[in-house]
Amino acid sequence: MKDISRLIRPSIRKLVPYSSARDEYTGTAAVFLDANENPFNSPYNRYPDPHQKLLKQKIGGLKGVAEERIFAGNGSDEAIDLLFRVFCEPGRDNVVSIDPTYGMYSVCAGINNVEFRKVPLGPGFELDTAALEAACDGHTKMVFICSPNNPTSNSFDPGEIMSMAERLDIIVVVDEAYIEFSRRVSLVKRVGELSNLVILQTFSKAWALAGIRLGVAIADPAVVEILTRVKYPYNVNMLTQNFALEALENTESVQGWIGLILEQRALLERKLKKFRFVEKVYTSDANFLLVKVNQPKKIYNYLVEKQIIVRDRSNIELCEGSLRITVGSSGENENLLDYLMQYQRDFVDSCEI
Ligand SMILES: *Cc1c(COP(=O)(O)O)cnc(C)c1O
Repeated sequence: MKDISRLIRPSIRKLVPYSSARDEYTGTAAVFLDANENPFNSPYNRYPDPHQKLLKQKIGGLKGVAEERIFAGNGSDEAIDLLFRVFCEPGRDNVVSIDPTYGMYSVCAGINNVEFRKVPLGPGFELDTAALEAACDGHTKMVFICSPNNPTSNSFDPGEIMSMAERLDIIVVVDEAYIEFSRRVSLVKRVGELSNLVILQTFSKAWALAGIRLGVAIADPAVVEILTRVKYPYNVNMLTQNFALEALENTESVQGWIGLILEQRALLERKLKKFRFVEKVYTSDANFLLVKVNQPKKIYNYLVEKQIIVRDRSNIELCEGSLRITVGSSGENENLLDYLMQYQRDFVDSCEI
């Protein structure tokens, strides 16, 4: 097993965490007079469980991982930020990631004054593990891989990621925000094999709960412990914990939504390919499609005028000419396709005559 503690910033390794009233007394009681809470307005007068015990039990049961391997955060964005603050010494350490990818990794690197090294994906968005490993040096603390990747929509071979993580003596973060839409298996069940593997998952996409802000990092208990030591004591509020517990009882709806979105993704892909201004629709393992068109800005602006907002990714490395389109409901997607048909009639057909 790799020694994770060696990677932790010395100041964090030494840190004595804040001890809350709920840390010091954890049982039940008739009267709580230990946290300077207001006795009125129950249950919201009470601080939430700082360790999200029930929530972690439920999530662990669902994902088949032990509770002590789960960190719960205010979105997976919190876990990303904490990983930087725990492992990377500002002005000295660096992290390596694929390019293009989710923007939060480089933003968190910037905030923490940590060098962010980008390794381009192949022309067909292939992962180049040799190049990623070559970009690492003695000050590299983490490698970030997003799979399925935002915005390219493809996913990478989990076996390849695992063998790279085996070879590297640093933290390997695999962001699986879109895993429920993927044809590939999650690496969640394999965190027990490697102490340097951190899997990020979120309730914001397949679970349709972006508004409540809940994400998890699943990792070695030593990594979870150190993230927990640095987090705000009450980072996941009571409303979120309770709402998520309810949602976790309702996994059939989530499975239903995923099924519908996958159906709509296939339909949208097929129909988008028929437009003459569409050059390519990339095969997607996520709940969005990356679509290469001949006049991205013109189409983007046309859709905005029609009150339909997609994401213009045409200025991004390797995504030249591309729009990122989230798979919506059947009604929303039909609406989009109708306007694209109108765009083709008004701006493409007329120019070809
Ligand atoms: C949407 C998304 C997330 C989700 O972040 P939350 O903070 O959990 O809402 C994480 N990673 C990627 C790559 C995403 O696209």
